[in-house]
Amino acid sequence: MLRMRIILVIVSIVAVIAISSTAAGLFVYQNEGLKTIEGDMVLVREIADNLLSREIALLKANLNAVATLLNRVSDSRISDVLKAQTEINELYLSLALLNRDERTIVSYGTAAPLPDFFLNKYCRRAFEGEQIISTTETAPNGELVFRICVPSGDRVLVGTISGYFFSDIISKFKIWQTGSIFILDESGTFIAHGDRNIIRDRWNFIKRPKLQSTQSVPPEDEKEMRKTAAFHKRMTEGEKGVGRYNFLGFERICAYSPISSSKTGWSLGVAAPIAETPITALKHGLLLTGGVFLLLGILAAVFAANQIARPIQKIDEQNVHLEELRETAERASRAKSDFLAGMSHEMRTPLNAIIGLSELALTDASGQESEDYLKKIHNAGRTLLGTINDILDISKIESGKFELIPAVYDVPSLINDTAALNVIRIGGKPVRFHLHLDETLPVSLLGDELRIRQIFNNLLSNAFKYTKEGTVDWYIACEREGEDLWLISEVRDSGIGIRKEDLERLFSDYSQVDTKLNKFIEGTGLGLSITKRLTELMDGTITVESEYGRGSVFRVRLRQKFVSDEVIGEAIAQNLRSFRYADTRRDRNSTLVRISLPHARVLVVDDVPTNLDVAKGMMKPYGMHIDCVTSGQKAVELVRKADVRYSAIFMDHMMPEMDGVEATQIIRSEIGSRYAETVPIIALTANALIGSEEKFLEKGFQAFLSKPIDIMRLDQIIRQWVRDKGYRDQPEQIAPSPIFDENSPSWEKPGRKIRGVDLEKALSLFGGDEKTLMKVLRSYVLNTPHLLEQARLHQTADDLSQYIIAVHGIKGSSYSISADEAGRRAEYLEHAAREGDRAYLAANGESFIALTEQLIKDLSRLLAQTSESGLQSEPRIKKGRPDEELLNRLREACLHFSMDAADEILEELERYDYEYQADMVVWLRERIDRVEFAEVLEKLPLPS
Ligand code: ADP
Repeated sequence: MLRMRIILVIVSIVAVIAISSTAAGLFVYQNEGLKTIEGDMVLVREIADNLLSREIALLKANLNAVATLLNRVSDSRISDVLKAQTEINELYLSLALLNRDERTIVSYGTAAPLPDFFLNKYCRRAFEGEQIISTTETAPNGELVFRICVPSGDRVLVGTISGYFFSDIISKFKIWQTGSIFILDESGTFIAHGDRNIIRDRWNFIKRPKLQSTQSVPPEDEKEMRKTAAFHKRMTEGEKGVGRYNFLGFERICAYSPISSSKTGWSLGVAAPIAETPITALKHGLLLTGGVFLLLGILAAVFAANQIARPIQKIDEQNVHLEELRETAERASRAKSDFLAGMSHEMRTPLNAIIGLSELALTDASGQESEDYLKKIHNAGRTLLGTINDILDISKIESGKFELIPAVYDVPSLINDTAALNVIRIGGKPVRFHLHLDETLPVSLLGDELRIRQIFNNLLSNAFKYTKEGTVDWYIACEREGEDLWLISEVRDSGIGIRKEDLERLFSDYSQVDTKLNKFIEGTGLGLSITKRLTELMDGTITVESEYGRGSVFRVRLRQKFVSDEVIGEAIAQNLRSFRYADTRRDRNSTLVRISLPHARVLVVDDVPTNLDVAKGMMKPYGMHIDCVTSGQKAVELVRKADVRYSAIFMDHMMPEMDGVEATQIIRSEIGSRYAETVPIIALTANALIGSEEKFLEKGFQAFLSKPIDIMRLDQIIRQWVRDKGYRDQPEQIAPSPIFDENSPSWEKPGRKIRGVDLEKALSLFGGDEKTLMKVLRSYVLNTPHLLEQARLHQTADDLSQYIIAVHGIKGSSYSISADEAGRRAEYLEHAAREGDRAYLAANGESFIALTEQLIKDLSRLLAQTSESGLQSEPRIKKGRPDEELLNRLREACLHFSMDAADEILEELERYDYEYQADMVVWLRERIDRVEFAEVLEKLPLPS
């Protein structure tokens, strides 16, 4: 196919050249050649004219000499003289002397004229004194003859010669093959021609009809004949020139003129078929050359095509081969990624168990040696988990499944935790660490905190790993760019440095440089390549400068979203520099001075009871009245009824059936009361997505609070929307600080630690109010199993929406109690479920449920211990049955969704041991904790 194409192209080029050059040659030669040929023909005609004129003159002169002689002899001797002259002169067939007066003819020889010759026009002209030659005529004996007539005194001497006389002369001259010289008489009859038949039959094209009777006239085509006749006519009219005509199917060229010595109007023609002229040969030559050239071109094309096509075909073959190789490589790469992903999951589950178990064992271990071993197991497990996470990250990034999960995060915490985690790595080495902070760093940013920690951790851990002594400096600054903010980090170390030649492949996958020197340093070589990819996912850049033996500098720029103008300021920066931030954060929460709003009444709407408890716990210090409902519909109902006018409504975003946005829209636009249109509604959301704030403001909300709720932000919102915009008729008061029970449990006590929950942080969320925290934890223990059950039930369902709602709920409540790992896992699962990443759910769903169940178990153990040792240690008073009045009040509280009141009443009920209906109080506690008010109302008897 390719060869054919090349051949066609070359042949076309050769053909165009051959045809055009041949045509040009033909054109030139046709014109110039014809002119030359015409010149030649004219020349031949002139020569022939000369020759024939001389012959005619000779014939006449010869006969004239005889006539002169006859004039001198006596009449009696004439006969003898004629005889003698005829015999001497072979030329004459006969000689005859004509006497007009006596009408006598004396002749000797054959074919002599008869007496009617006196009437002949040539004879007459001779008697008038002209020397003349007649045209051919058939003599009485049948011979074709010319008569030469010359005057001889009063008489005329007629010499008869052969009619082929001139034909014989000119037949000696050949013009090319069939070209010839011919003579026409004055009437157009051929009187000399190479072909004797033409002369014998006296061809005459002008008088053709006459000729047609004779046999030798060729059956000419009419048109051709007429043209030839017209041509001959011009000749007989005495014209001179060169012309062309067709005869016997051939085009002929003919030079013609009257014979100069002829007095009788004879004309001479020199004619030849053009086909026989050299010009035709030249044309053929040119055509032949063109043809040969074309043929050679084709041969050359075939040859060239073979030569050219061969390498191209080879390249084509190689391309096919390469394509196959590429596919194979891609398959292999996919297989590798799949394998890694699969393997990592396989390994993670048991590793989690190793870590968890060894940690448990560590907690209980008594012997020093076993504790040592366990520590080692634990460390090994952690390292392995880190490696596997790295592999998993790389494979996720490679397969394009990796996605950032942006949320609003606390910048000082991020810096503090990262620094704290890494300084431990100094161990006993003489390495100093300095943190250089820009005080204008914002307090909050929107981005994927986990991945930013990963980037910073990697760079810092490398700096500490590869620095035996000297310094590690960490600089953090920021640059604002519109809605974005560049987080800039620089890690400088005075460690071993990196060779120039290694710098380039530092960020490529699976490569550890300087392996000899770093033989004893732990690492997989994946860290920097993950760091680079994460950086790029954040639109950022990473660069490195290093001097071998002297140290390295790693710089990253990460694009984050701007959240608020609040900056960390000098105090926090100073604390961070001296690693005291973690403490101050807790202090900040516990020392927050809350305003007292005893007359304010707020409504909290959330489908997850634990979240309601969290919100209530966090708002309790303000002394507000807090009502709770578990669905959007119920909230709408309450606002519509308007029995109670709330100062503000805190509305969860994601709820089954009617979500927060829908509920708010109905409140704002369907109820129609002024109260419904203006009551401040604050969105509660665990999905702090980009642009959330504006989105919520557009939908009719006044503000938004992201979960887990930040105590400072909550305070700010309460001040703005409950105090300032809500009821104003009460003077502002300072809320009393939470009362710390002397007997309340201290989390520091042994056995009060729980894996997966930062109890201290959780406590600080509730302003150090342990009682509230206990309540929230109890709520978590009580309500989470139901959500887990939902998650388990729906994790393989076709429609994942129920699953999303369940894990979303667990995410929020886990974060709220500082169970960050459970929260994060739930967050990833929620994200994966939204993306439809079922593989991720299949791989992680169960382990998440197991982890959370373990967490619930641990929490209940803790709650049991705490209630035994602390909170509820008062001896209970015995009573017959639950107080009727209290039950009525409980009913009332449930009717109004007043959770606070319900709680208080229940606590009152729980202070006694009942002889009868003790189960009912336990049942009520369960329902109230789950905010199942409707069921409570159904069960409680109506007041009598
Ligand atoms: P690893 O897990 O092996 O540390 P990384 O991808 O983080 O993998 O780093 C790749 C290699 O780059 C390391 O093996 C080390 O040789 C080199 N390297 C990284 N950071 C530093 C540093 N701060 N100083 C010297 N060498 C470094």
